[in-house]
Amino acid sequence: MDFTISENIKRIRYDIEDAKAKYRKHDDIVKIMAVTKTVPYERVNYAISEGITLLGENRVQEYLSKKNFYNKNAEVNFIGHLQTNKIKYIIDDITLIHSVDSIKLAAEIDKQSEKLQKCMDVLIEVNIGKEESKSGVHPEMLGEILDEMSLLKNIRIKGLMTIPPVFNSEESFEKMQMLFNEFKAKRTDNINMDILSMGMSSDYALAVKYGSNIVRIGSGIFGTRK
Ligand SMILES: *Cc1c(COP(=O)(O)O)cnc(C)c1O
Repeated sequence: MDFTISENIKRIRYDIEDAKAKYRKHDDIVKIMAVTKTVPYERVNYAISEGITLLGENRVQEYLSKKNFYNKNAEVNFIGHLQTNKIKYIIDDITLIHSVDSIKLAAEIDKQSEKLQKCMDVLIEVNIGKEESKSGVHPEMLGEILDEMSLLKNIRIKGLMTIPPVFNSEESFEKMQMLFNEFKAKRTDNINMDILSMGMSSDYALAVKYGSNIVRIGSGIFGTRK
């Protein structure tokens, strides 16, 4: 079983290098995040022993039940839908929240960060396909929302995240790359667009083609979720 995890990670690394060689600059860094939902901590730790340095957590409760058992060599990011009343449970040890999708959530993260006298790094989740079923900011609202969020002193906006519609991920990744580059060029206080988080098990190589620098992979590493 664990052997499969190491084979999977090797294959993903290879695919990423291949996409980079074709479409990206030689020294671009693309991080592989291991998405841990439903995966027992022993298997997560095995992935860390195979060189994974970044974990992605979806559910606060599940994270709290596993975090003390995780090997501390990996950084942990939050990628799931986050309720404002749960921020306090994760703000201490999460290094980046990928799923900020409203001013209300950003303001609450800002407030909780201020209490701890820290500055929290966040990404804005973009609903690039404007799907009813997905959270995230609609692309035409992004400018306005970034302007408002830039006033919050205890968060730092580091980039964008998306989950594209199932059937047109390529077009969506291309749009995301354009948005990312547009806002990267406009420099504002508290905004420093470095991270483009996109690509999952089924489409990470395509996401790398369009500039992703964090791919979030669950089943592609750990196998199908039960
Ligand atoms: C589950 C999840 C992933 C990983 O999905 P896989 O298809 O298993 O790779 C990536 N991002 C988010 C936000 C997720 O919830």
